[in-house]
Amino acid sequence: MSQLQNATKTADGVMVNGFLLSPIVDQCNGCDRVREFESEKFCSSYPNPDKKWAGGRCNFATHAKVEVASQAKVNPLKASKRAAKGR
Ligand code: SF4
Repeated sequence: MSQLQNATKTADGVMVNGFLLSPIVDQCNGCDRVREFESEKFCSSYPNPDKKWAGGRCNFATHAKVEVASQAKVNPLKASKRAAKGR
């Protein structure tokens, strides 16, 4: 895993470019934007991953795109009924 760029450890926590970072949440596991620093994991794109996931799926996530794909899938039962009726 890549290291977090420009990170410094302060008394308040890990900071990057003036932003205080919170560690990633469970939903972030597998995302390409996860970076490691001092054996903790952070997001390279967002300082507060928990807030990013609070309102649903993170829109920066590079993983977990399965849900979107399955919504577009045709219901196989309805499709076969249509085929049987010749429409
Ligand atoms: S981009 Fe979203 S899912 Fe990926 S590590 Fe950051 S907060 Fe987590």
